[in-house]
Amino acid sequence: MNDILPPDSARWEWLEEKVRGLMARYAFRNIRTPIVEPTALFVRGTGQTTDIVEKEMYSFSDRLNGEELTLRPENTPGVVRAAIEHNLTYDGGKRLYYMGPMFRHERPQRGRYRQFYQLGVEALGFAGPEMDAEVMLLVHTLFQELGLRNVRVELNSLGVPAERLAHRAALVAYFEGHAALLDEDARRRLHTNPLRILDTKNPAMQDMVRQAPQLLDYLGESSRRHLETVQQLLTACGVPWTVNPRLVRGLDYYSHTVFEFITDELGSQGTLCGGGRYDGLFELLGGKPTPAVGWGMGIERVLELLQAQQASAQAAALDAYAIVPDASALVQVVPALQALRAAGVSVQMHAGAGEGMGSFKSQFKKADASGANFALVFGADELARGEVTVKALRDGAGTQRLERLDAMASWASSLQSRA
Ligand code: ATP
Ligand code: MG
Repeated sequence: MNDILPPDSARWEWLEEKVRGLMARYAFRNIRTPIVEPTALFVRGTGQTTDIVEKEMYSFSDRLNGEELTLRPENTPGVVRAAIEHNLTYDGGKRLYYMGPMFRHERPQRGRYRQFYQLGVEALGFAGPEMDAEVMLLVHTLFQELGLRNVRVELNSLGVPAERLAHRAALVAYFEGHAALLDEDARRRLHTNPLRILDTKNPAMQDMVRQAPQLLDYLGESSRRHLETVQQLLTACGVPWTVNPRLVRGLDYYSHTVFEFITDELGSQGTLCGGGRYDGLFELLGGKPTPAVGWGMGIERVLELLQAQQASAQAAALDAYAIVPDASALVQVVPALQALRAAGVSVQMHAGAGEGMGSFKSQFKKADASGANFALVFGADELARGEVTVKALRDGAGTQRLERLDAMASWASSLQSRA
């Protein structure tokens, strides 16, 4: 669990502000439910055989009345409970969003915390594929407005219960035929939740899982049309997507569309946002049948990616770092840097710590750490000839060339990043 301190907290406030503005433009309104709910809500709603319920919940009994309670590990069951309790959809669908802390007892690691924050939306009472597309467009637009790059969209369809049942039978038969390859987790799930085996991260099972019967082949006409419409609307809005037939999501309540927004820049915790349609959840929790679709997004992961990408954007903003092996050269170097800056090049001048300029090697290290695209080496030999060595640090790292100082106008612009 983390303390969020200034100046970091300012980035959270900035993101929250962006979210509020965006939600207003899509006509989604805020809902705030309690952080503590009855344990049974998650056992039923999230699902008995999910990772969350099997091993990640912070549960306790109320000392005063013995009631079994749980710190919410996710907010979809809470929102649906509230919607049922207050009959929220009596006069039509509701578009809702929330932001707040969730709690899961997981092994702490980068991008995985025990108290973390989720932003989520739930569109309640909408059956059509256009709402699946709309909630996905919300994510896409948010990422765009935050300035995030390189996030891909994967989607799949889990169809309707009858289709899943037929597929499940084929899947169990297939896995039984490959019993020797199943790990302990998979053997346990074989008869409780075989779909989740497709989700395995075990490399030894990948080949076998890839050959397994695909739910997509069991979809009927209407489920296929639902998926195609979502795809069509995304494409029409310029959102690239790919189908991942093994995307099943970790929660039990999904049907039809499931999706994830994924980055490759955060290591193994690359899922920024996951969601899907959950038409069966209202009934499961004792409400009237109510179709719904939504997603949850990990705010820490989004901020982490944003910071990583901005750091590289900032780094790219520095064109050159000047390396000055000998302080006696400064009287030639400093005016040369002035001229480069006047020509529009951003240059960081190496500055000594009081006793000379430091070794060539340590200057090079600093040049590298500065994020500059080029090192300018003002060695004594070069300067004597009126030249400087320009060495690439990023693209084509290691390649170098000599340039004449009196012809700066002809090469200065080649240092400028186009970013
Ligand atoms: P994973 O496969 O990474 O465990 P999940 O399927 O458990 O993800 P969801 O329950 O769908 O994740 O939660 C939605 C999003 O919340 C995730 O995509 C992720 O960005 C974020 N998230 C989930 N668990 C954590 C955690 N422990 N710490 C930080 N963020 C998390
Ligand atoms: Mg998880």
